[in-house]
Amino acid sequence: MHEQANGFEGRSLTVVNDLSVDEQIYLYEKTRELKEAMAKGEDPRRFTIGDPDLGVYLIFLEDSTRTKESFRNAATFHRVKVNDFNVGSSSFNKMESISDTIKMLFGYSGRSIFVIRSRLEGTCRWLEDALGGYAARIGKPAPSFINAGDGKHEHPTQEFLDEFSFLEQQRWNRESIHIALVGDLAHGRTVHSKVDGLRVFAEVHVDLVAPKELALPAHYEHRMVQNGFRVRSFPSIEAYLSQKEVAPIWYFTRLQLERMGEEVLEKAPLLRRAVTFGREFLSLLPEGTRFYHPLPRHREFPEIPSFLDGLPLNAWDLQSINGYYTRIVEIGLLAGKLGADFRGERRVPPAYPDDFVEEVAVTETKPHDYKVGIKPVENGIVIDHIGRGDDIAAIWDHIDKIRQIMKLNYRSSHGVYHSSSNEIYKGIISLPDILSFDETHLKMLAAIAPGCTLNMVKNSRVAKKYRLHMPTRIYNIEAISCKNENCISYPGHFEQVRQEFYRSENGKFVCRFCERPHNFGEIWDL
Ligand code: ASP
Repeated sequence: MHEQANGFEGRSLTVVNDLSVDEQIYLYEKTRELKEAMAKGEDPRRFTIGDPDLGVYLIFLEDSTRTKESFRNAATFHRVKVNDFNVGSSSFNKMESISDTIKMLFGYSGRSIFVIRSRLEGTCRWLEDALGGYAARIGKPAPSFINAGDGKHEHPTQEFLDEFSFLEQQRWNRESIHIALVGDLAHGRTVHSKVDGLRVFAEVHVDLVAPKELALPAHYEHRMVQNGFRVRSFPSIEAYLSQKEVAPIWYFTRLQLERMGEEVLEKAPLLRRAVTFGREFLSLLPEGTRFYHPLPRHREFPEIPSFLDGLPLNAWDLQSINGYYTRIVEIGLLAGKLGADFRGERRVPPAYPDDFVEEVAVTETKPHDYKVGIKPVENGIVIDHIGRGDDIAAIWDHIDKIRQIMKLNYRSSHGVYHSSSNEIYKGIISLPDILSFDETHLKMLAAIAPGCTLNMVKNSRVAKKYRLHMPTRIYNIEAISCKNENCISYPGHFEQVRQEFYRSENGKFVCRFCERPHNFGEIWDL
């Protein structure tokens, strides 16, 4: 029998932020405890799950050495059922959807943890939604999903072992860290996970060392700054070492050739030179510098050449072994074996307040006398102030979008107007047949035309007036989709994912699955 729910049981690790900072620190402390106990040869049974009805499924749709083998060894340590799913000969080749495959495997064990690596970003988040609903319907505990790397997006469990390794190096001092991220920062998911993982340190200085073709995408850099990190950028190792403030921790990533577009791929040899460590640089490093690398290294063109392997600089070999210990603890937490002694702040899932409809005072009870074209409605709805202040073409486009998306195929009229007192234009749609909108339609309208007003006209008077604001979350609308071709929700992958975006603090629309930010106009398919 497994232990009582411990606050971690049944949860998923799809991104680093699925654990609060306190929970991440707890993971590191538990790992330290486990590693020390094992080093002393103590009986590790207090850490082991030992439940043969718990299935750990390894589903690797992309190649892997360390992540897969450390998870396999960690699961074996726990004495649970370990299933290495053979992707190559599976029904994925017959176009089966991943949610159907997982549903089937989920039926084979009382409890399940799926460790999934996929080229498609957001796969685990989607499966968490899909299987969570299915589990509730059939009355089984929901499975946990561990993202073992999804495209260019994240690799949370690599992040946890990286941070654990940095903490060991700093003797558990979390006051500050100064780290250089070197290599393919554009495509390297282990670097993207650093945006959140480094928050366990109170003060964070990050130096980004990469030529512009391999630079960290702007939205990740923006989030680092938002997290309070000091961020500096350098185009090459040479440029970085020509200034004085050099980090004692260097984190390299290989050139992710398999994820590069043709244009960048052509320049690979040149780009590689900018981020490969040369003998001539050795004397410029601060004393005690350590090099880390999630591995693998390219055996012909390694960013960390092999002449460095025997030097104290080499921290990457021991770093990779830490993957075994951190993953034992991660499985132990999600299975409910570990975590009962956690004290601290739990992760609070983001909230999306539904406050997009604001009732405003009706200042005049007579409907407007719209002079050009629109006959005043006696009973119905007038949508006013569409795209107020935009140019005329943009307002017409807005009106078209509203009519198409909301399928307003009724007796009605519309137009672009300006008030007599100024030259500010706005769109109006008048709907004499419609007496109310339901919540979904209101949300749709707010998303398409934020700032518009809704006048409910009764007996030729405005009875109620509402102003609509951009919702914090946009979903349940047919005409939206994520434009990242590598996202699990991208319609071309036919995984039937319900599209969902949330609004970020800088006004972007972030896909719930791959977390790619979109401009508002981009999310629409029309
Ligand atoms: N092993 C790491 C990953 O899966 C790093 C790499 O492949 O370069 O992301």
